[in-house]
Amino acid sequence: MNFTLTLLPGDGIGPEVVSEAVRVLEKISSKYNHSFNFQERLMGGCSIDKYGSSLTDETLADCQASDSVLLGAVGGPKWDDPNAKDRPERGLLALRKGLGVFANLRPVKIHPALVAASPLKAEKLEGVDILVIRELTGGLYFGQPKKREMRDGKEYAVDTLEYYDYEVKRIVQLAFELARGRKKKVTSVDKANVLESSRLWRQVAAQIGSENSDIQLEHMLVDTASMKLIANPASMDVIVTENMFGDILTDEASVLAGSMGMLPSASLGESTVGLYEPIHGSAPDIAGRGIANPTGTILSTAMMLRHSFKLENEAAAIENAVDETISAGARTADLGGKLTTRQMADEIIKHV
Ligand code: NAD
Repeated sequence: MNFTLTLLPGDGIGPEVVSEAVRVLEKISSKYNHSFNFQERLMGGCSIDKYGSSLTDETLADCQASDSVLLGAVGGPKWDDPNAKDRPERGLLALRKGLGVFANLRPVKIHPALVAASPLKAEKLEGVDILVIRELTGGLYFGQPKKREMRDGKEYAVDTLEYYDYEVKRIVQLAFELARGRKKKVTSVDKANVLESSRLWRQVAAQIGSENSDIQLEHMLVDTASMKLIANPASMDVIVTENMFGDILTDEASVLAGSMGMLPSASLGESTVGLYEPIHGSAPDIAGRGIANPTGTILSTAMMLRHSFKLENEAAAIENAVDETISAGARTADLGGKLTTRQMADEIIKHV
């Protein structure tokens, strides 16, 4: 099969990890006889430097016209000025909105050989296999009004947390569909004791739960969920939640796996054009040194093969290769090892 992929390596370690993920895809293409046509574009800080915009209309159009998008990471101290006209994160939000990817999937599974890399006790990590589904195009990050102004001589700022029922419905439905292929349990996370938008979220989730009685549904307040993720993570299966709660809980969940560098993500919407990226940022502290862990990005390509291209065997081949590589003891610096980004990818490619 033929696929066109837009690569958005971005800033910091983004280009370092994306180039290794491309090598893994090239191995898949030769082994399984597919053809991947890669088109590379700028996004984030590098795009601000070159075009004065973190995401140009042309780049967004190219992403929309391709079969899928692989992103590294964006941002860094160079573009951190809060008063700047444009910021790398704006490009990221515009890309998600422009692709209509409303669901961010972040699987968190702990390889038994990496248990020691996690700050949690080994017995807490046994059996942990969580899929966090974060709403991505609504809520506090997009709601209007969102502004700063002077009011009665005082500086004032407002953000708005808003949701329509259809936005909640489509993502909770996705959570139920994905739970059906797993342990059949959905934890819907909200703050319904305080927030009106959460009461709508809970009402919609309960309705979908009553229509899908084969799946166990539990509602959980976000504060309880953040505690449960550490105290008893193995009790969770699929977690579905709104944008900001998901942003925070997914980073918390990533700690279970020992390193941010291990975890992939997929952002999906109505169309098959998905956005795939590791969960970590541009890691300016290690950028340019060739020591970043490329595994999260490589596992993101497995999610791309599965969700956008329906190539389950090829996706599993990458995931198994990562498992075997870790079992064989290969480690980058974040996991206490000495392998470079390139060497880690070489090991994974050998196992594909
Ligand atoms: P970060 O994820 O970039 O880094 C956090 C820590 O994890 C750092 O110590 C870093 O060295 C380490 N780390 C991250 N990825 C790693 C990898 N693959 N291998 C080894 N170690 C890794 O988070 P941060 O430092 O808070 O943010 C840095 C920049 O990235 C900021 O500008 C932020 O806005 C941006 N950011 C971008 C995204 C994105 O592009 N989706 C996400 C989060 C943060």
